[in-house]
Amino acid sequence: MRVLVKGAGVAGLTVAHELVRRRAEVTVSDRNLDFRHAASWLAGGMLAPWCERESAEAAVLERGRDSADRWDAILPGKVVRNGTLVVAASRDQNELKRFAGRTAGYRWLDEQDIAILEPLLAGRYRHGLFFPQEAHLDPREVMQSLKDGLLAKGVTFVGQVAEDDGFSEIVDCTGAARIGESPALRGVRGEMLYLQTHEVTLSRPVRLLHPRVPIYIVPRDKGLFMVGATMIETDFKGPIAARSLMELLNAAYTVHPAFADATVVETGAGIRPAFPDNLPRVTREGKTTSINGLFRHGFLLAPAMAAEAADLIFSGQDSDRSRQCA
Ligand SMILES: Cc1cc2nc3c(=O)[nH]c(=O)nc-3n(C[C@H](O)[C@H](O)[C@H](O)COP(=O)(O)OP(=O)(O)OC[C@H]3O[C@@H](n4cnc5c(N)ncnc54)[C@H](O)[C@@H]3O)c2cc1C
Repeated sequence: MRVLVKGAGVAGLTVAHELVRRRAEVTVSDRNLDFRHAASWLAGGMLAPWCERESAEAAVLERGRDSADRWDAILPGKVVRNGTLVVAASRDQNELKRFAGRTAGYRWLDEQDIAILEPLLAGRYRHGLFFPQEAHLDPREVMQSLKDGLLAKGVTFVGQVAEDDGFSEIVDCTGAARIGESPALRGVRGEMLYLQTHEVTLSRPVRLLHPRVPIYIVPRDKGLFMVGATMIETDFKGPIAARSLMELLNAAYTVHPAFADATVVETGAGIRPAFPDNLPRVTREGKTTSINGLFRHGFLLAPAMAAEAADLIFSGQDSDRSRQCA
């Protein structure tokens, strides 16, 4: 079976991996082969289905709870299983209670527990929530490793390709580029930045709750921290807004004042593709299968959606059969 996968974001790369595993002959096309136009490049890489349940449907937790295991099977050793810490300033304790009321899989922490988990935050927060089953990965490292692995297995990466170029199957993973073509698909802009400092050490993603501007900080190697992210109902791709930059920086400073001396090494804005229910969909029409609508959960859910798409392709089910994350 010769398959063309369009789009080399997390959806395209994971489905290419799954198809190769099932012995398909795969070509991946992307208008930008350096990943930099993919929303995936800007992601936090949190595999946090219990925290996400605060605002997401139960299906996201159901589909995402084994995400770390799936990633370990795809790329052994890339997942960090240190859980998620959620904190709020003393004046925002109601936010913490509200978050706890909407989620599960956590335990309450007091000041001492927080200090044991993240020594740098000792004395800064009276209460917190710890989600021990959650994990995170570095999206950029993972994308490059996936690409390298696919190249080693004979997958070709190219720019634009004519669809009828002898391919028996097409998998469309072009994300937000389908807005306006795929019914009801919309964009939700996420602005983020990278800070670098060797004054701060965190072992896991830290979410700071706030009534207006909730943020998270995800530690990376070499003193890098990804700080995200805004949620703005637009598919405008331009650079980060001054207000967003200020809010993200203020929040990082609130988590720890040492972030004030960090270097801002990068800012960016990515468009999360989303359907009205914010759940991803695998659909199939003719010889084209689509994976889209990954919204805030591309890294969390792409391995599961890739397996579902591959099942659909290999089972040769009716062309109008479509599935939704449920
Ligand atoms: C700031 C931010 C933080 C996030 N944090 C997280 C997180 O912590 N955890 C999580 O699970 N998710 C997170 N997400 C969500 C996640 O990034 C998205 O759900 C995911 O990136 C969507 O992946 P995708 O492959 O569908 O799209 P993309 O990554 O956008 O990839 C689409 C690709 O298709 C290419 N393309 C477009 N048109 C064509 C064409 N005609 N032919 C060929 N190629 C084409 C594009 O160049 C692009 O490379 C975050 C998103 C943002 C913006």
